Amino acid sequence: MIELIQFYRDQSIVQNLPTHLFEKTPIIPFKSDQEQCPICKDKLAIRRTRVKRKVKTVGIGTFIPYETTLYCPKHPDNGSWKSTELPMIVPPHSNFAYSVIVEIGKLRFRENRQVAEIQWTLLEKHGIEISISEIEAHINNFIFYLTAVHQDSNELIRKHIEKQGGYILHLDATCEGDSPKLVSSIDPISNFVLYSAKLKSENKDDLILFLEEIKKRLGVPLAVVSDMGKGIESAVKDVYQGIPHYICHFHFLKAIGTALFDNECKALRNALSKAGILGNLKTLRRTMGDRFEDIPISKIESFLDNAE
Ligand SMILES: [Zn+2]
Repeated sequence: MIELIQFYRDQSIVQNLPTHLFEKTPIIPFKSDQEQCPICKDKLAIRRTRVKRKVKTVGIGTFIPYETTLYCPKHPDNGSWKSTELPMIVPPHSNFAYSVIVEIGKLRFRENRQVAEIQWTLLEKHGIEISISEIEAHINNFIFYLTAVHQDSNELIRKHIEKQGGYILHLDATCEGDSPKLVSSIDPISNFVLYSAKLKSENKDDLILFLEEIKKRLGVPLAVVSDMGKGIESAVKDVYQGIPHYICHFHFLKAIGTALFDNECKALRNALSKAGILGNLKTLRRTMGDRFEDIPISKIESFLDNAE
């Protein structure tokens, strides 16, 4: 019985997707709000209409935009007028609305979904068919658009930071092997990511360029928090002069921990590997799923007791 209810529930979800609300894909007109020629005040005429593409969206399903371009026959060189609404919904010439790109970006970067999973989710939840290569392209587009929005909003970010009384610059770099360093910075008061860039190295000169860019955008920070790298230290002195520069607690403890407990750590690691407990721990982890907090300590203990 429960299975049957679940079946009908799933079916109703699929059948009520925006994609299935209309028997035929709806055609939606898009036209400029401008109706008169700004020079002669005559009513604008239709230069062309276009029904070319299907636009797939999250939330309102698929539609076909019917675009009308207006112009003044007396002043044809004065340009033409189009809808300003359509370019806010979908990029030019694209079949996928910004809402789809945002959904792809969220699934990829917030939920760490693989491309194939994203494809399935879009189909199942939003009724959107999209190829793997299109998803991959939109993952890149998402990053480009996000960067553009971030840069475009710099004035807003600056005002917000001014209002809160300044910002604290936490910065750190990460890399894989010999690849360039990804340097990122956040302000813990606003929780904003301030600026990120790929740098050749963590040397002073490369970091100076990075810090100067932040200074140009947001002014001098109240304080800097970073690891104990020499390059960072002198770059901060150079660019921000006398401001306080704190050592990050995490990096400090990590460095101390390595120095103080390196031998103990090795001994513990060896003991664990000798006892052959790693396989059991991995099996335990696999059976736990994502609900680690829900498992009582007693269950973990009895699992370990019973493990071979
Ligand atoms: Zn005119």
